[in-house]
Amino acid sequence: MLIHSEAEMIKAGSDFAKTLTAPAVLELIGDVGAGKTTFTRGIAQGLGVKEGVTSPSFTLSKEYAGKEYRLVHYDFYRLADPGIMAENLADTMTDPDTITVVEWGQSIKDVLPEDRHIIEIKYINEDTREITIK
Ligand code: ADP
Ligand code: MG
Repeated sequence: MLIHSEAEMIKAGSDFAKTLTAPAVLELIGDVGAGKTTFTRGIAQGLGVKEGVTSPSFTLSKEYAGKEYRLVHYDFYRLADPGIMAENLADTMTDPDTITVVEWGQSIKDVLPEDRHIIEIKYINEDTREITIK
């Protein structure tokens, strides 16, 4: 699916969020600047999160209260030893009230559930991205 603007990316995330029931795990794959965090802003919007979503690259994770569910957003870009997060992640991902979004999860792939949603975002040009949801 082609996405032509940031606003459209947020809408795509929001629409997708509304199809989810917790617990659900989303793995976002794409280069720096592809739009993973932007898509997550849409997820938050769709879940009814009121506060703004910012990248958790430095804190590793951030959580937000939605209307019905909690959103937990991880970013493992800067994590040298992902093993230290495995237990925390396992608790979050199985929580019946939680939608978990993971950026840069490749290094902890073994810990992610098989039935996760894999969302690939590809940079096409400055404003355009291609999303593939598996
Ligand atoms: P990532 O988390 O993958 O590193 P971000 O979501 O933080 O990426 O950044 C994406 C950047 O690309 C933002 O500055 C956003 O405004 C810009 N952008 C431009 N067009 C789009 C689009 N169609 N979808 C998503 N982001 C876009
Ligand atoms: Mg990001």
